[in-house]
Parts: sequence; structure tokens; C-alpha cells
Amino acid sequence: MSETHEFDLAVIGAGPGGYVCALKAAQRGLKVLCVDRRETPGGTCLNVGCIPSKALLHSSERLHEAETEFAALGIDNVTPKLNLGQMMARKERVVGDTVKGIGYLFRKNNVTFRVGEAKLTGPHDLSINGEKVTARSIVIATGSAPVALPGVDFDEKRVVSSTGALSLEAVPKRLAVIGAGVIGLELGSVWKRLGSEVTIIEYGDHIAPGFDRGLGRQFQRSLEKLGLKFRLSTRVTKVEIEGSALDLTLQKVGQEETETLEADVVLVSIGRKPYTQGLDLGAVGIDTDEVGRIPVDPHFRTSCPSIYAIGDVIAGPMLAHKAEEEGLALAEQLAGHVGHVPYDAIPSVIYTQPEFAMVGKTEEQLKQEGVAYKTGSFPFMASARARAIAATDGGVKVLTDAKTDRILGVHILGACAGELIAEATLAMTFKASAEDIALACHAHPTLSEALKEAALGAFDKPLHL
Ligand SMILES: Cc1cc2nc3c(=O)[nH]c(=O)nc-3n(C[C@H](O)[C@H](O)[C@H](O)COP(=O)(O)OP(=O)(O)OC[C@H]3O[C@@H](n4cnc5c(N)ncnc54)[C@H](O)[C@@H]3O)c2cc1C
Repeated sequence: MSETHEFDLAVIGAGPGGYVCALKAAQRGLKVLCVDRRETPGGTCLNVGCIPSKALLHSSERLHEAETEFAALGIDNVTPKLNLGQMMARKERVVGDTVKGIGYLFRKNNVTFRVGEAKLTGPHDLSINGEKVTARSIVIATGSAPVALPGVDFDEKRVVSSTGALSLEAVPKRLAVIGAGVIGLELGSVWKRLGSEVTIIEYGDHIAPGFDRGLGRQFQRSLEKLGLKFRLSTRVTKVEIEGSALDLTLQKVGQEETETLEADVVLVSIGRKPYTQGLDLGAVGIDTDEVGRIPVDPHFRTSCPSIYAIGDVIAGPMLAHKAEEEGLALAEQLAGHVGHVPYDAIPSVIYTQPEFAMVGKTEEQLKQEGVAYKTGSFPFMASARARAIAATDGGVKVLTDAKTDRILGVHILGACAGELIAEATLAMTFKASAEDIALACHAHPTLSEALKEAALGAFDKPLHL
């Protein structure tokens, strides 16, 4: 422990970046404090993000299955009925148990957890609810917050961010979702399955920006089959409260005329912005960039040498596992070890049905970069396991370097894509070739055989197509 400071390390924010950094640093022998204004550690992810959304996705998928698929599977006379209160209570229990788990890990690893508002008062000094704390190093892991539409504030009842959309008290008859990114698609599909008429309005000309465009078109068709309606290349210019309804003014990109869409609830999911409010970065001479992120060097050091930053508050994809990897790498570095984040192989997943997962580059990126690449594809329609479990939507696409066969990107649309992408991520982390995946024995019958087949297709031919 440092002689002059109360703690070796003080971490501001107990989200996936902050709590993982605190735990690993403590395991490496540092005296660690982690502070969060929430009483429940886990940050956005555990409290109002990844975990509650997946709990609601799961419940709503089971309801939908019972309503639409059981008869075809040979299960008769099931008349499912939504109990929204019970569904929400289960979600809260899942969240409660998960955040309790973090508290347990803090105690087990001797991390001091304090609830309060942290403010920077010097290179080694913090004030927590006015009380002074000193630490040799400080990590800012304060995460991000939802972006509002200009002039339209969240009331979290009718104009909601993801936080409000995770806790609606009744199923809205008409839900308008602004933004066809991960959060809009996941929560839009939850409320569609629970009974809302859902319209998703997207400024761009395709959904799921950043994901493979070809599989993205199939993805849109699958979501349309569920009943989601899409208004692409359309901007929302105004949201007005008209009695019990909301009037959204829509304008097609490049056109003058506007039209009105009525909704009962509007979910604004147009992105998230780094959150540094109240930290007083100015007190330690740290500036933010043009979008509010804290600039850091490759070792996560800010312009103030004893202060570091990780997670959503710095550049890169706003994902829990990216924040965790940065927390781990930084903790190792602070303890005198080597820490590294494999930024080229960070997966992204949209947890709809079908799921959409990717790791590495898209074809569009490779074309832009002028990289010569090969493609191997395999549809789940040709997978025996996918047919057995009635999940034939989608397929796998493997992109490889045309000369070396090294895998440059993998894109999977289908059931369990979020799990299947792990094999591709591992392969990319170890710089594997498509032939490496194709040579590995995959259990039969599994969905993972589709990845083997697509890998085969990148340098030879799939077998079962
Ligand atoms: C609806 C939704 C679903 C999502 N689903 C996924 C998913 O499936 N997979 C995925 O990878 N990512 C998902 N994300 C994104 C993920 O939640 C974030 O990328 C992740 O939480 C970022 O971690 P972080 O540690 O950087 O910050 P956060 O988790 O945001 O944690 C920051 C913490 O800092 C605290 N804090 C801020 N300022 C102060 C201060 N001054 N003093 C004290 N405490 C402070 C906050 O209270 C907060 O708890 C989702 C997000 C949302 C909103």
C-alpha cells in the first residue's frame, strides 16, 4: 500500500468497467475503493441495461413461443396469458440477485464499496459526498447516459429512454421507437411480443447499423414477420403531447413534406453519450473531446498522469464486455503486470429472435479499406439442428484474407448467435485461419456446425450445401 494515500486505487463507478477493475486490482494485492452513487453495484449493465433487458426478452420470447409455436410442435390446448406484474417482478429479482453477487465479490476480495457522489479535487484526491479520500491512482469509469431528442425531455412514463422502457406499468397500445440500433430493436421486440403495435423509425436506410448489410436485410424480414413495422430513411422532427396521445412529426430524408404518427409511448433510443457530469474534470485539467469522451493513451492514462479512464466514457464500442476487458487490463497494469485488450476481436450482439452477432470487420469495411477478401456462407436452413429446433432463419458468413485465409470477420444471424460468436471470437483472438475452424471437430447436431461449414466455404466448399 502507498504510504501517503489511504488507498492504492479509487475507482469511480461500479459498472462492468469499474467493478471488474476494482476486483482484479484487489486480487493483485492493491488496497481498493470503489464508489458509485447507486446503492446497487453493477452500473447501467446490471441495473438498467444488459441484464433486465435480457430477462424481459426471455419472458416475452417464451410467451410468443407458447402463443405461436406450441401447436406446430405438437403441444395443444395451451392458452398463455400475460401477467406483466409477475414478468417485471421476475426481472427485478434477476437484477437484485445479480447486483447482490457483485456486493459479495467486493466483500470476498476486500474491495471497500462506498455509496456516494464522487468529485475529483486533485490528482490523488476525491470528495465523496463531501468527505475527502486520497488514492495513489484514480480510475474514472462513470459510463454513459441516453441521448434525448432535442427539445423532448424524458419523463420515463410516455417519453422514455431504455430505463423507462424496461419498467412500463402497462403494455402501450402503440409504441413508437426512434432508432433501429441494438436497444430499439431489443426493446421494440419485447413490447411487440407483449402486445404493442410497434413502429421503429430510423434515420438511416437500414436497421442494425454497423452489422453485415446482407444478413441485415434478412434480419429485417425476420423482425417484420414478428410484426415490427419499420420507417427507414425517416427523421422525427417533433414529438408533441396531444391529450393522452403523442404526435410524432416524421419527415422522409430529402423530402419537404411531413406526416404525423400517433403513439401512446415513445422510446427514444438514438444512442448514448459519455457521462462525466459532476466529476469536475476541470479541477484536474482533463478536457473531453467533441462528443464528451475522455481522451486516454494506450494505457488508459488521461492527461492527468495519476488518473485513468475506461469503459463507455472513453472511445470505442459502448459494450459491457469491452468495459470489462479494459478494467481487467488496467488493473493488471496498475499492479505491475501486462494488460491488453484485443480490440480487433470484440463481439457485438443484438439479442432479438433471431439473434444477430458479429466480430471483426464487415464486408463494407473491408471494401472501404481495399482489403482483398474471400467469403464463406452457410444458411441455417441447411442445418439439421436448426430444422429440429425450428430455427432456420439466418445463416453464418465468414470473411477471410484472400491471401492468407486469416479470419477478418464473422457474422451470424440465427438462434443462439450470441453464443456461437464466441468460437469465432476465440479464433480471431488467436489469429486463426478459416481452415483452422474447418479442421476442428464440431459436435453433431449443433448450430456450431454452420460456422464450420461457412469456414469451409471461405477456402473450399461447404459439405452440406
Ligand atoms: C438497455 C440497455 C441494454 C444493454 N445491453 C447490453 C448488452 O446486452 N451487452 C453489452 O455488452 N452491453 C449492453 N449495454 C451497454 C452496457 O450497459 C454498457 O456498455 C456498460 O454498462 C458500460 O459499463 P461502464 O462500466 O463503462 O459504465 P456503467 O455501467 O454506465 O457504470 C457507470 C457507473 O458510474 C456511476 N457514476 C457515474 N458518475 C458518478 C459519480 N460522479 N459518482 C459516483 N458514481 C458515479 C453510475 O451510477 C454507474 O453506476 C446495454 C445498455 C442499455 C442501456
